[in-house]
Amino acid sequence: MYCNYCGKVIQDDANLCAYCGKRIGAVIARKRLVRPRAGRKIAGVCAGFAEYFDLDVTLVRLVWLIASLVTGIGLLTYPIAWIVMPEEPLRLAEPAGQPVTNP
Ligand SMILES: [Zn+2]
Repeated sequence: MYCNYCGKVIQDDANLCAYCGKRIGAVIARKRLVRPRAGRKIAGVCAGFAEYFDLDVTLVRLVWLIASLVTGIGLLTYPIAWIVMPEEPLRLAEPAGQPVTNP
């Protein structure tokens, strides 16, 4: 399969792209608005929105920051989103068939 972000060929069962480090197998996180455990700066709110809407997290942070400075809306909504958005569940139920130990 191909990475959605950099377009390089990666392993079919890969969770991370080996080239750009983006998360590929984050289907659970993409269906629900959650705060991812990886790649967060403060509470992962911006990272969560970025994953949910499939946007660049830097862009989300920039927009949020500008909205905070200009209107104050960002400052108001960040703690609300922090409280309301659940944390990404620990991915214990990885899909079976990963070639880890079985020869
Ligand atoms: Zn990639």
